[in-house]
Amino acid sequence: MTLAQLQKKIVRCTKCPRLVTYRKDVAVKKVRRFQNDDYWGKPVPSFGDPQARLLLIGLAPAAHGGNRTGRAFTGDRSGAWLYDALYQYGFANQPTSEHRGDGLQLHDCYIAQVLHCAPPANQPTREETLHCQPYLLQEWELLSRLQLIIPLGKIAFDACLRVCRELSYPLPNPLPRFTHGAFYPLDNGIVLLPSYHPSQQNTQTGRLTRDMFYHIFAQARAHLSSQSRMTQYT
Ligand code: SF4
Repeated sequence: MTLAQLQKKIVRCTKCPRLVTYRKDVAVKKVRRFQNDDYWGKPVPSFGDPQARLLLIGLAPAAHGGNRTGRAFTGDRSGAWLYDALYQYGFANQPTSEHRGDGLQLHDCYIAQVLHCAPPANQPTREETLHCQPYLLQEWELLSRLQLIIPLGKIAFDACLRVCRELSYPLPNPLPRFTHGAFYPLDNGIVLLPSYHPSQQNTQTGRLTRDMFYHIFAQARAHLSSQSRMTQYT
């Protein structure tokens, strides 16, 4: 299966009854500011460069963001922070992401999510998270050049550790803990670099500042550049 085929399968998924009901309901009721929009209302596929070395993992589409536009981190405030940072560090061709036809392209970067459907109040159940995990695992395996993973938030970080176990990756002992900006190299050469999620809950309270977020992508860029130099001289 290719990444493109996997995304087509994800868009048809109905494994979580509560989320299926919620995402469709939101798409019908809408909010006043988007009353004229035609909501997506389906699982939101991952997207990006199939040759990416950097994998970003978000939590789930926002009810009136990705669930409306049909693309992850598109049309919401978290996306405004994320794509600005990706653009600043050369992983995206533009700093904004408003709708699926806006010309956005990712370079050396792929964006996946722990869940592909918007959960009520951004709170998925553990069962729903586990339902969606096989998709993340398959994406991980299909990204053959993968070197660096940025889980956005603790739920994404925990999902990473579960996928590592399922793939029998050797994990350090003691187990890595979710810490913004920590750099966890695994024995197979992949690095985990956790970041706070750029949700308004974090950005409006100052838990995540613009400088802190940029620093994550500066680390990512420096690491990938150093890996390129090593490849060049071996
Ligand atoms: S969250 Fe994932 S597993 Fe659940 S219905 Fe959506 S795509 Fe399917």
